[in-house]
Amino acid sequence: MKAVVCGAGLAGLTLAHRLSVVGVEVVLLERSPGPRTQGYMIDFLGPGYDTAEAMGLLPAVREVAYYLEEATMVDERGRRRASLPMALLAPGPRLDVMRPDLEHVLRESLPPSVELRFGASPIAVEDRGRSVRVILDDSSEFDVDLLVGADGLHSTVRRLTFGDESDYLRYLGFHTAAYTFHDGELNEALAGRFWMTDTVDRLLGLYALRDNRVAVFVIHRSPDPTVPDDPRAALRETYSGMGWLVPKILSKLPPSSEIYYDQVAQVLMPNWCKGRVVLVGDACFAVSVLAGQGASMAMGGAYVLADRLSRTPSVDQALSGYEKLWRPVVERTQREGRWSGAFFVPGSQRWLLARRVMLRAVQLPIIDRVVSAAAALAAKPSDLIPTLQRSKSTAAGP
Ligand SMILES: Cc1cc2nc3c(=O)[nH]c(=O)nc-3n(C[C@H](O)[C@H](O)[C@H](O)COP(=O)(O)OP(=O)(O)OC[C@H]3O[C@@H](n4cnc5c(N)ncnc54)[C@H](O)[C@@H]3O)c2cc1C
Repeated sequence: MKAVVCGAGLAGLTLAHRLSVVGVEVVLLERSPGPRTQGYMIDFLGPGYDTAEAMGLLPAVREVAYYLEEATMVDERGRRRASLPMALLAPGPRLDVMRPDLEHVLRESLPPSVELRFGASPIAVEDRGRSVRVILDDSSEFDVDLLVGADGLHSTVRRLTFGDESDYLRYLGFHTAAYTFHDGELNEALAGRFWMTDTVDRLLGLYALRDNRVAVFVIHRSPDPTVPDDPRAALRETYSGMGWLVPKILSKLPPSSEIYYDQVAQVLMPNWCKGRVVLVGDACFAVSVLAGQGASMAMGGAYVLADRLSRTPSVDQALSGYEKLWRPVVERTQREGRWSGAFFVPGSQRWLLARRVMLRAVQLPIIDRVVSAAAALAAKPSDLIPTLQRSKSTAAGP
């Protein structure tokens, strides 16, 4: 079997790895000219964590991970409003890892048989019944048994096969951005904690990285989904007037081309496959940054897709088996993502005060135990996936 996987992000890299270890010939296309170095911290847990474990990659992920013990929330003037152990925010085994570092671990684990092409993107897809023709922007062509779109929220494969993204993107009313910069003094002051502002309509998060770097991410409300032409100027304007460390952080904004900036959206599709084209990850089931599990869903979904393809003789049955198994997990996470915006970015002073009361209550010992137990019960999508559980004991490392 021969497959083209479009997108060397978390879903595409996981899928390319899993398919190639079962003998599929894989060409992996990535639009960017080389490995990504900029990014943001991923709370890595649930199915993503289980997938890394099943692939034998946990030791390598641990090496690049960060260990943040506590989330501290401060108001616009820098006064501490709440502190929560990270274990309470995300129960169960978890790691904090920068997205480019996780991609690096996955890329390094790829068997040599995977052909990874940077600077390559499809421009046309032709359905040929039991195969598919993929034409790239450099005019090269592939006739393959399967084309996988693992190319993220604004997927090209989805547009070429299923139609315009406006049919599938559900805007959640927020914009998000992320960037990193060097500052030794600030790095030292922030170390070991995840810092978040406790503010109305806009949220700014901060943490220290290795090599004296500091990472920033923001989420703010915006009625208009259109992404600004100049993210740097837009961020300066949106976050101006905030006190604490914010003026310093804004003064460190890199050029717009180095800032990750996008709308916060989910992808809702009635079908994830059409003929011999299938989608995985944000391309077909983005849950959004507000759900905080997109990376885990992307890797878990890729693992399940590869597993179905390796166990089912019919490609068509394998594709529908993947969708049947993974869709309920994703839909539950998407529902959580839709309401969590109101919690993470309160839309009024009243909501902000209500959240403060709730966060204080959660820190009382008895409530803490009850909330932890309830959250632990709710946060086990991988338990629903027999393939992931079964393969944990049998999976070979890279
Ligand atoms: C600020 C922020 C914080 C987040 N925090 C978390 C978190 O804590 N936990 C969590 O689990 N998730 C988190 N997420 C979500 C998570 O990053 C995504 O859900 C996840 O990266 C999706 O993986 P993917 O592989 O499907 O897509 P992507 O990571 O978007 O990868 C798609 C890849 O395809 C490539 N590509 C795009 N178009 C083409 C093309 N035409 N041709 C070839 N290649 C193409 C892209 O360059 C990219 O490499 C966060 C997201 C944001 C924005």
